This record gives sequence, C-alpha cells and structure tokens, in this order.
Amino acid sequence: MKILLLVLAVALLGYAVYAVIPTYWCKWCSRMPVKTVAGDHRIVLSFDDGPDPRYTGRLLDLLRENGVHACFFLVAARAERHPALVDRMLAEGHQVALHSYEHQNAWCKTPGYVRRDFEKSLAVFEKHGWPLVFYRPPWGMINLANLYYCRRHSLRFTLWSVMAEDWSRHSTPQTICKKLENRVKSGAILCLHDAGGDAGAPENTLQALETALPALIQAGYTFQKLEEETL
Ligand SMILES: [Zn+2]
Repeated sequence: MKILLLVLAVALLGYAVYAVIPTYWCKWCSRMPVKTVAGDHRIVLSFDDGPDPRYTGRLLDLLRENGVHACFFLVAARAERHPALVDRMLAEGHQVALHSYEHQNAWCKTPGYVRRDFEKSLAVFEKHGWPLVFYRPPWGMINLANLYYCRRHSLRFTLWSVMAEDWSRHSTPQTICKKLENRVKSGAILCLHDAGGDAGAPENTLQALETALPALIQAGYTFQKLEEETL
C-alpha cells in the first residue's frame, strides 16, 4: 500500500512539473511570454481558433471598415482547409500566428504529440509561405515540451491580458462589449475568437465588435501588430 501511494505521489509530482507548474508559471509569474505591449493607448487585437468560413470573412470585412489590423492565431489544420482566408488576412495587412495544429489540450499530450503538432503546423505555414513568429497554445495551457519546441523553432510564446469570454454561450454581444470597455487599457493584448467555442459564439463576437471597435477608436486607442512592439 505504501509503495502504491509513493508511486502515485511521484506520478502526481511528475505531472505537476511537466504541465501544471509551467502553465501557471507562464500565466502568472514569468515575464517570458508576450502578454502586453508598450505605449500609451496602444493595444493589440488578436483572434484565436480560426479560420472559419462562416465568420472569418465577415470579421475581415468589419476590420477593414474600421481600419483596424489584428493578429490571427490560426489552428493550422483549419488554415490548411481554408488557405484563401489566410491569404486574405495577409493581403489586408493582418498578422498570422500559430495556435497549434489540432487545438488539443497540452495537459493531456505527450512530448511526441507536441513535436508532431509543431512540425505539422510549421509545414503548413512553410507550404503557403505564411510568415510565422508568434505562438499561442490553446487555452494558454502548456507542458515542458511546448516550451522546448517553441524555443527550438524560434517562436515567441504569446498569451494575452484581456479576454471577454466571447467563446461562452452565456455571453451576449452586450456583455462582451461591456467587458472590453471595462478591461481594455493601454498595452492590452485582447484575445477574442473568430471560430470555436460554444455553438454560434463567434456571431456574438462579430456583433460585439460592431460596437466595440468604433468605441475603442473613439476612446483614443490605436491597434498595433505584435511585431511592431516586440521584435
Ligand atoms: Zn483556442
């Protein structure tokens, strides 16, 4: 019985060191991940989980109407299925970055899986000639292998400073808008979603941005790309 408990304790400790501690260290303690940008009233607008042909094109229309540039953290498997949307992002002055190949939770994945996920992702970006500098793991959850391969492939580990829970079915365009209004401040990196989340959630994001983008511009914020601030 004692041996069983010892084995269990060692396994739990190993798991904590492999996944739990690195994730919370990066989220709350480490200054290594990009979480904010410098400058008065400068902010970065970023979108995770796309592209999705139901929403991403409409989002690009909305950004163009407001003269705003954003950074899209792509799920590479989705980008592979909809490359024209990614080409359009780049053609219209947006930035593209990596959000994994399959959008799996790193807490449940082996180093071998993480290596393959990076390799498949990079192959997609290389095949299409899409520039790649920044990497944001799904849900911001990582393990030691994520950190290793991120560094090995010379990617900049990126998180965020403002979320508006736009992925939740409990959110409405009004609540998303209100959260953005209350939470955005100089230097913020906003993390929203043009795909994924609960069913239909990106529709709320689109509607919220119809109000929030003009309001942020009116409040004096300018939208920066990550590369302008951090390279
Ligand atoms: Zn995601």
